[in-house]
Amino acid sequence: MELARPTAIQVGELYDEATDLLVAAMGGNIHLGYWDDERDQSPIERATDRLTDLVGARLQVTAGQRVLDVGCGTGRPAARISAAHRVHVTGITVSAHQLDLAGRLAPPAAGSTEFVLADAMSPLPFADASFDAAYAIESLLHLSDLAAALEQISRVLRPSGRLVIADAYLRDRPDDVALAVITRMGAQFRFASLPTRRECAEQLAAAGLTQVDFADIREHVQRTYRLTANAVCGAAHGLDAEHAEHAAALTATARLLEQFGSLRQIGYMLVTASR
Ligand code: SAH
Repeated sequence: MELARPTAIQVGELYDEATDLLVAAMGGNIHLGYWDDERDQSPIERATDRLTDLVGARLQVTAGQRVLDVGCGTGRPAARISAAHRVHVTGITVSAHQLDLAGRLAPPAAGSTEFVLADAMSPLPFADASFDAAYAIESLLHLSDLAAALEQISRVLRPSGRLVIADAYLRDRPDDVALAVITRMGAQFRFASLPTRRECAEQLAAAGLTQVDFADIREHVQRTYRLTANAVCGAAHGLDAEHAEHAAALTATARLLEQFGSLRQIGYMLVTASR
């Protein structure tokens, strides 16, 4: 499902502005958290790290290998995956502020990281087949030219190298109410598209990548929307009267997040593909 066509610069501006708020609300990872079940009371920092771990496990990498993080955020997922698997992770982002934050992270206890300002839709500054694996956590939905990005990812992956994607997707045709929420969410968070499961497999195939696994983990991650909305509301309440307009905008964003998260048409996929 096509939404808008944000440029990489517009997406970069969004994250230059919003990353600090998102970090305050979510604890450093800018992605959904994973909870085992209703009784799991893990805080959002732990739950979002757990999603990173699920992605890391699917990469099937061994110590010393090279991994590409497409849309690295604050660098926290790269640092975690690099330490857990003793690999070198190169993260790319279109936000200069994120690049700055990632550059200031303490080096991981094992493995190593490096961060580069680069647009995945343009020729990446890496040689063909120079990565053993790649992952993209909640970044592909910002790409107005997903085909170009997947082609680049495929080019820099070595044969049999894996790409793991964690992202929202469209699991049912939206009715008018859902469509209105999705369109507003897309405009606010600069989403270019929300693929269906089939579109995702087709786009991977077009880039020479074969989907080897698909899992919908929506029930495990959905709680994040409410928790993040509550944190954003809390930030709005903390503002003084002088910033009433900003507070109202934050409260509206929080409501939108909750509405989007409760749509039954929105799933969350963990996809593994192989070159
Ligand atoms: N994967 C991180 C951040 C998710 S936020 C995490 O899980 O914490 C989305 C990320 O995608 C941001 O870092 C943003 O800079 C990146 N992104 C969006 N469009 C991009 C593009 N065209 N090229 C490279 N990165 C992009």
